[in-house]
This record gives sequence, C-alpha cells and structure tokens, in this order.
Amino acid sequence: MNIRLDKQRALVTGGNSGIGAAIALALAEAGAKVGVNYVSHPDLAQDIVNRIQAAHGEARSFRADVSQPDAVADMFASLDEVWGGIDILVNNAGIDGRRALAWEAAFPDWKRVIEVNLLGAFNCAQQALKRMAPQKSGVILSITSVHEIIAWSGYSAYTASKAGLSMMTRTLAQEAAPYGVRVLALAPGAIKTPINQAVWSDPQGLKDLLTKIPLNRIGTTEEIARMAVVLVSDAASYVTGRTIFADGGMTDYPGFAHGG
Ligand code: NDP
Repeated sequence: MNIRLDKQRALVTGGNSGIGAAIALALAEAGAKVGVNYVSHPDLAQDIVNRIQAAHGEARSFRADVSQPDAVADMFASLDEVWGGIDILVNNAGIDGRRALAWEAAFPDWKRVIEVNLLGAFNCAQQALKRMAPQKSGVILSITSVHEIIAWSGYSAYTASKAGLSMMTRTLAQEAAPYGVRVLALAPGAIKTPINQAVWSDPQGLKDLLTKIPLNRIGTTEEIARMAVVLVSDAASYVTGRTIFADGGMTDYPGFAHGG
C-alpha cells in the first residue's frame, strides 16, 4: 500500500527532535505540508524544515510552548494564515521530568510534566478540534508511552500524564466521532532519542533495558514514524479512540517468559 497524504496540513508538536522529527519527515515524505513546532531549539526545527524543503516538500517552523494556551492559540492562528487550517495534529511534545520518588518530588517539577504532556496536548487538541469539527474531517494522534500502563518508579508525573492522555484520547474520540474526526494514540516502547540517552549510552543501563524488550533491541524513531503515518492516513480510517502500542513487545511483560 502506498500511503499518500498530499494536500494534508499537519502540525507536529516537538517536531524538531527525536520521534517528532522523524514523524515530521515521514509526513512530508508522504506529501503532507508540515508545521514543525518547537519551544527551545529553533536551530533543530529549521534543520528539519530545510530537510523537508530540500526534498521538495512544504514545511514551516512554529515556536510555541504547548503548555501555554495563548501561545498555542497564536500558533494555530499562524497555521490558518499560512495554510488555511489543519488536517493532522500530532501531539508529540513531551518531557519525562526529574526522577524522584513521590515523597521527594518538588511540586514545580511534578507540575511541569503534567503541564507539558497533558495540558499541552489538550491545548493543541482543543485548537485543532475547533477547526476539524466544522470541516468534518481531521485526525489527532497523541504520542503516549508504554508508561500509560506500566508503572515507573520515580516518574509518577510522567506515568500519570501518559495515562491521562490515553483516557483523554478516548473521550475526545467519542466527542469528535460524529464530525468524522478521529482521535487516537500511539504508545512507543524504548526508542533511541535524546530523552533516554542516559540509559542507552550506558552499557549496564542498556543491558537492563534489553531484558524488558522481547525483540531484544531499542526501537528507531523511523519505526514510530512509519506507524504514525499509517495511523493518520485513511489506511486506519476505522481506528479511533484507542492506543496502538509499538514497543517491541514490552507490554507483554517479558519477565514472565520463563514462568512465574
Ligand atoms: P526528545 O527529548 O527528543 O524530544 C522532546 C520534544 O518535545 C522536543 O522537540 C522539545 O522541543 C519538545 N518540547 C518539550 N517541551 C515542550 C513544550 N513545552 N512545548 C513545545 N515543545 C516541547 O524526546 P522523544 O522524541 O523521545 O519524545 C517525544 C515524545 O515521545 C514524548 O512525548 C515522549 O514522552 C514520547 N515517548 C518517547 C519514548 C522514547 O523512548 N524516546 C518512549 C515513549 C514515549 P525543544 O527541543 O524545542 O525543547
């Protein structure tokens, strides 16, 4: 199947790094116009825009802190000006925060993870749905994580944000379905990006991580991007309100492979 997204107008939050950058490139390769959102690294965003344009695609970078509703509203207004609206939103921007057990965690750190991962996704989804519902088409894909269902000590804000995003996805899907708008989520396992560099660059950390992955390797950003393209395309036209896992089998709990 040759998936094409010609004439589709897409926005990828955190589209300048890691998984988001790979998704931005893959959407553009499929023919979509791509807005590359970033907050703190304009150089990386411009690099992705340049790569898309060099391949004769259409792309723009948009700065906005997704946790700020006004900044998000301004970003969508800019999208309206440039492309006249939006057809595909990928809520990808996310942080895992500072590792701390709950009784040691500082409130601002905990709150910031929720602000970016959950409120940020809501702010963008709200602006997208304001446009998608009246036009009776569109797709919102949010990048959650295996940690929407796997507990992770020291990261209670992250797990709560991703579980919340999963349930928000189901509810928004129910609200948007009568308008022909799909809302779904993609949950990666361990993917090699800057967010988890401390783990995969440490031999002991990597060895421990691989025991948790039945396919016995870390995933690539391209593997997540390919799945994202399928999910936002008509190939997945009957899929909404659910999280699709792309995790090398991690959520199959490989610790049980030898009995238990
Ligand atoms: P990266 O650290 O490479 O990228 C994070 C991105 O989020 C950056 O583009 C960053 O932009 C952006 N970002 C952070 N805060 C904000 C904000 N307030 N407003 C707008 N953008 C923001 O990480 P990954 O690519 O690994 O992560 C992408 C998503 O995938 C996250 O939601 C993460 O939770 C999820 N995920 C990742 C997994 C992995 O193993 N890598 C596994 C499961 C889920 P900037 O550079 O400009 O600061």
